[in-house]
Order: sequence, then structure tokens, then C-alpha cells
Amino acid sequence: MDCIFCKIIEGSIPSAKVYEDESVYAFRDINPMAPVHVLVVPKKHLASMDEVNEENSECVAAIFRAIPKIAAAEGLKNGYRVISNCGEDACQTVKHLHFHILGGKKLPDQMA
Ligand code: 5GP
Ligand code: ZN
Repeated sequence: MDCIFCKIIEGSIPSAKVYEDESVYAFRDINPMAPVHVLVVPKKHLASMDEVNEENSECVAAIFRAIPKIAAAEGLKNGYRVISNCGEDACQTVKHLHFHILGGKKLPDQMA
């Protein structure tokens, strides 16, 4: 499968890993939009939030267990934002489900 995040997870494309467990991988965004910008992805390929269902949603729970651990490790004591872009209107560019963790500064209060 020609998926850049699957290649990052398997290690054929290098990444700056910040967290890994059985079902979750997290790494620094190559084009950071904030002092801390981490992408958290399921190891299992799902194209977007639209593919989450009763059979596979445990990986999303695992991601949301990992996020506060990653935020603490990154020193985000004053808060952070979690975003997942789904589909064209949200400008999703990589078609492998991912959650952006953004922090390390006061973020703009307008999302769109
Ligand atoms: P999206 O726009 O799909 O929500 O976010 C995709 C994110 O993946 C972007 O913030 C982009 O900078 C990041 N990205 C794309 N290709 C790579 C890559 O090869 N390595 C890393 N670390 N991040 C990437
Ligand atoms: Zn993938």
C-alpha cells in the first residue's frame, strides 16, 4: 500500500518518534505549526475518521490513552489542542487516520 504513514510506522521512511505502543505510533510533524506538533496514528491503516467502526475503534481508544502521556512528556502543562482532519473540506492531505497534538504556545482561538 502506498501510504506514507504506513511506511513511517514500518520504518522505511524515517521519523522522529515520540511514542509507540502495540497499536499506536506518534512522531513529530515534518512541518510544525506550533512549538510542539506531534502526529498520533493507529498502526493499523484506516484512511480517516470515516473508517472508524465497532470492529476497529479500540485503536482510537488507545490513541486517546496515549495523548495525555505524550502531552505530559512534551511538557504541555498549560494545555494543547487535538485535531483530526477528515476528508476534502477539512483539507486532509495524508489518507491515514491521524491526530495532531499542537501546543507549546497560545494557539489562535479561531479554527476556521
Ligand atoms: P493533514 O493535513 O492530513 O491533517 O496532516 C498531514 C500532516 O502530515 C501535515 O501536517 C504534514 O506536515 C505531515 N506530514 C506529511 N508528510 C510527512 C512526513 O513524511 N513526515 C512527517 N513527520 N510528517 C509528515
Ligand atoms: Zn497507512
